[in-house]
Amino acid sequence: MSDEDPYDNALAQLASITEVVKMEPEYFEMLKHPRREVVVYLPLKLAGGDPLTCMGFRVQHNNARGPYKGGLRYHPSASLNDVRALSMWMTWKTAVIDVPYGGAKGGITIDPSKLAQDDLERLTRKYVDAIERDIGPEVDIMAPDMNTNPQTMAWIMNEYSKLKSQNVPAVVTGKPIELGGSEGRVAATGRGVSICASEAVQTFLHKSIKEATVAVQGFGNVGSNTVATLMEMGAKVVAISDVRGGARSRGDRGFDVSYEKILEVSTTQGSVSKLPGSEEISNEKLLEMEVDVLIPAAMENQITEKNADSINAKLVVEAANGPTTQHADKILNRRGVTVIPDILANSGGVLVSYFEWVQNLNRDHWTEEAVNARLEQKMKKAYGDVLRFSQKENIDLRKGALAIAVEKVTAAMRLSGWH
Ligand code: NAD
Repeated sequence: MSDEDPYDNALAQLASITEVVKMEPEYFEMLKHPRREVVVYLPLKLAGGDPLTCMGFRVQHNNARGPYKGGLRYHPSASLNDVRALSMWMTWKTAVIDVPYGGAKGGITIDPSKLAQDDLERLTRKYVDAIERDIGPEVDIMAPDMNTNPQTMAWIMNEYSKLKSQNVPAVVTGKPIELGGSEGRVAATGRGVSICASEAVQTFLHKSIKEATVAVQGFGNVGSNTVATLMEMGAKVVAISDVRGGARSRGDRGFDVSYEKILEVSTTQGSVSKLPGSEEISNEKLLEMEVDVLIPAAMENQITEKNADSINAKLVVEAANGPTTQHADKILNRRGVTVIPDILANSGGVLVSYFEWVQNLNRDHWTEEAVNARLEQKMKKAYGDVLRFSQKENIDLRKGALAIAVEKVTAAMRLSGWH
């Protein structure tokens, strides 16, 4: 078993809670494997005339609690195995945050920064044409993930609507507002991460988020919005990074520039690493900083057995999916570092996706205040449920969150008569 294979990690996590959650052996088998895996080849003639063939995946893990739900990521090394793990994590996430969905995930093997916008659009539409029968508002609903965004969702919605000869906004979430997207969706994952971080600082460090130092790895959709909401809450954000490197504030009080300035630097320079008034720092060093809260918000396998002994944060709040490997998790546990697991910490995104879907089905539009208030209430409830259950069972929060999720999913399977 590889420590860095996300699917192996997902399976090991599932196996680790079988003592807490009693289930029929066949249910364990069913949960180990996705229900369906769709693999498609997407041949394309690029604008320059060259041919290119990408692979596309959609893995549907479980739909006992409702339609499949999960993001679509574009990454040159996207693989069926990674997407499989991510689809299982979505099943747990929708159950933990208590929305009536199952879990799925999609991927296309492409680095979108190397494609012209027109080519990217045609690739996205080809993917929809290829998996049209496998998706739908009551079947499987996609959303943005790594390297995809509201524009990607707009193309998907339009292509699907054309194929169905009707307007079907609820086939995707994370759409532009103008096409039926929800207020607050873009920031939702990051906002939820910050709410979790704030609750955890209170529970485990017995202080307010305003007094906490925080380092955030990754400055994409999730990382940047986590930084924005943390700064809004008054937290001391002392380090940020992206794939090209990071920046560390000169003191422990956090950056003395506004979030808008950080965003401007990121947009104009293509990286946050050269933020004025700060020192450059590598991603490796950022992860090892002595801070109250470390938030990995980039990608999987960032905290492994190689660096887990060097993590100096008191709390790790997992904004990315699968940033801590199974072995690293054990090391952090042993060293007394509290980990707020991904399936809880980053569930704000799928929660507001659910709000968007509900609005679409009702042809409604909620205010940003209403969305954020509901997000805060549901995140705090999920956090409290996981905390109390873990304390009652004397298990770590990852096992607690997973156990709550698996209980809900197996109950739905049992009631529906899956066998
Ligand atoms: P994104 O593509 O918008 O941003 C990714 C960020 O990570 C970028 O800043 C990039 O520069 C940085 N990065 C990439 N490789 C890196 C590396 N090797 N080292 C350091 N930084 C690196 O993606 P996103 O949507 O923000 O997703 C980030 C993570 O959060 C992923 O694990 C994703 O699955 C998870 N997630 C996303 C959402 C969502 O709503 N977008 C919801 C839940 C979970």
